Amino acid sequence: MDKKFYIAANWKMNGSLSFINDYFSNFSPKSENSNEMIICPPDIYLETVKKYAPGFIQIGAQNISSHDQGAFTGECSGQMLNDNAIKYTIIGHSERREYHHENNEDIKIKLLNAIENNISPILCVGESIEQRESDQTFGVIDNQVKSVLDSDMLSSGTSILVAYEPIWAIGTGLTATPEMANEVHAFIQSIIDDISHSRIIPILYGGSMKGSNAKELLQMEHIHGGLIGGASLDASEFIKIYNIAEEIRNG
Ligand code: PEP
Repeated sequence: MDKKFYIAANWKMNGSLSFINDYFSNFSPKSENSNEMIICPPDIYLETVKKYAPGFIQIGAQNISSHDQGAFTGECSGQMLNDNAIKYTIIGHSERREYHHENNEDIKIKLLNAIENNISPILCVGESIEQRESDQTFGVIDNQVKSVLDSDMLSSGTSILVAYEPIWAIGTGLTATPEMANEVHAFIQSIIDDISHSRIIPILYGGSMKGSNAKELLQMEHIHGGLIGGASLDASEFIKIYNIAEEIRNG
């Protein structure tokens, strides 16, 4: 199957110098060339992870400011991330939407900032349990994608990734079934096709992905990888998921 996978770790606000040292002390996936591994630590550890991580790993941030510079205490701009050769940034994670009140408008500005600074955004979308149970999933996703992505962005040279992360599956141990996830991924791709026919966007699944369920999820046609929270904090579990992606791609 020739589908490139993106296996991304979202460490959230976890980690320490000794954790990073331990994490990479014996970090060797079976092969490391065909798919993309991305690790998104807290900003304070971006440089440390870059120093300790094997060279094939790409480093990403978990957020980007919607401003370029100035009096925005606690923020980190796209230019600053770019200065430090950060290749990716997560944008619009449900935790930022909920705890930092980021709306689709803010998220669009952040996405534009990332693109302007040559950083590939990983745009997170996903429905709550109440929305799923009241049949609003497709409407919510449609709105989250259409109000952020536009044809200019999609025709820029910067690669853009989307992560479908049903909120009810994040950190809960509940996972969307492969069929449920695949259906939403296909839907997201169809929205993107409507915006821009020329662009295939990798769509990652996020929500309690781990070694034991990665294979069935990654084998689905429209799933191009995973955004992994809890399981990415265990190096051997994260490598296991990456190895599964390698096996599927390389046969
Ligand atoms: C996430 O927060 O992006 C995530 C997918 O978390 P978890 O894997 O722990 O559900």
